[in-house]
Amino acid sequence: MEVDPPNTALSPTTVVRPSHIPILINNAIEDKEKITVADGQEYLKRQREDDWIENRVARIEAQNGKLDKLRSDVKVEEAKLENLEREYKSEVARIKKRREFFTGCRSKLGAPGSRSNPGGEEVLETGHCAVIFGTHIHELMHSLGIIHEHSRPDRDDKLNISQAEVVRRGLQVDMGIDQWSTTTLLTPFDHGSVMAYDINHYEPQIMSAWDKDSDYTFGNRRVSFHDMYKVNKFYECSCPTELPCQNGGYTNPGDCSKCNCPRGWFGALCNEAPCGGSCVLIAKPEWQTKTVNSSYVFTGDNLDGFTSYFHHIQAPYGMTIEIKIEKLDNFICRSSCNHNGIEIKYRMDHMTTNPLICCLNEQQPFAQKVISSVKNPTVIEVYSKDRTEPAAATFSYRYIDESIRFG
Ligand SMILES: [Zn+2]
Repeated sequence: MEVDPPNTALSPTTVVRPSHIPILINNAIEDKEKITVADGQEYLKRQREDDWIENRVARIEAQNGKLDKLRSDVKVEEAKLENLEREYKSEVARIKKRREFFTGCRSKLGAPGSRSNPGGEEVLETGHCAVIFGTHIHELMHSLGIIHEHSRPDRDDKLNISQAEVVRRGLQVDMGIDQWSTTTLLTPFDHGSVMAYDINHYEPQIMSAWDKDSDYTFGNRRVSFHDMYKVNKFYECSCPTELPCQNGGYTNPGDCSKCNCPRGWFGALCNEAPCGGSCVLIAKPEWQTKTVNSSYVFTGDNLDGFTSYFHHIQAPYGMTIEIKIEKLDNFICRSSCNHNGIEIKYRMDHMTTNPLICCLNEQQPFAQKVISSVKNPTVIEVYSKDRTEPAAATFSYRYIDESIRFG
């Protein structure tokens, strides 16, 4: 695993960790947006046990799509607002709606009253942005004190940023290295963090990845394994007993009976293959082909809007797995691969997001080549986000004996 360089410029006390951030939701926010807000809180609640979500936040036990229940819960919540405000005074984060249609989505950094947000109150300004789950999590994470991935102190090792363009457009603050950067020390840089911008966020483009294969991974709105790990570590959320989690998992502070697992690993201890073992593809020396149909289906668990189809490709011990993507049917090819994509966990560090693929053309040249994996088994994920129309990915796989090839 990569290790971040130490950040000597800041002391750990630079950012004050809040013990709670009560959240009030502005009445002007529409039901559709409230569902996203509620799902976001539910998602975070499952990952960590801190009372930021569970006890002091005005509760919304919304189920995705159940507006009537949401409405009745919101009514209860509204009745509590006055008491909450009195109890917590200025330490109240508000999710509020802007009148303008497009104002961008933004949030103060850190809890209201903390050093990074001394006089602040709002968490998230909604509008078009709150209906995208990952964007909402992005803003909530700011309120938890988490900075942009492209503002980390080690970001220049990973990103090529045109400083001339930054200065010309007056983006020194947005694209600078953040002074509240202590939270970045807890995880390696992750191109797939929900805290990163799309490389085309600014036009003309002002940033790209040094690792070209990861260019389209920036801006993806899945919440990454490291995103949640970072929140849990920063808040020191833990369990009385640590489970023997495998494959990089760690005991889930939101439910101490199981581990939080890197994508593609299942079971309480992160040692189980997908689909109870029936989605394991056994590689042979000859190429074999697999087509994975992919479209978004709400399962009750995928609050983030993504439906993922996982497989493991397994080879005999010591063999090297090779994968080639043959065809992408009805895939949208666009930076950030947010509509659909494939992630092959072929790199040694499978906890950090590996390059996402959604194009089989010159936009992602590496995706047209044979990908050699150092992991056995290799996790392969095909996902769709909010797209219910059928799509499919076809790939081939085999194993080779490197000792013969290079012997
Ligand atoms: Zn942001």
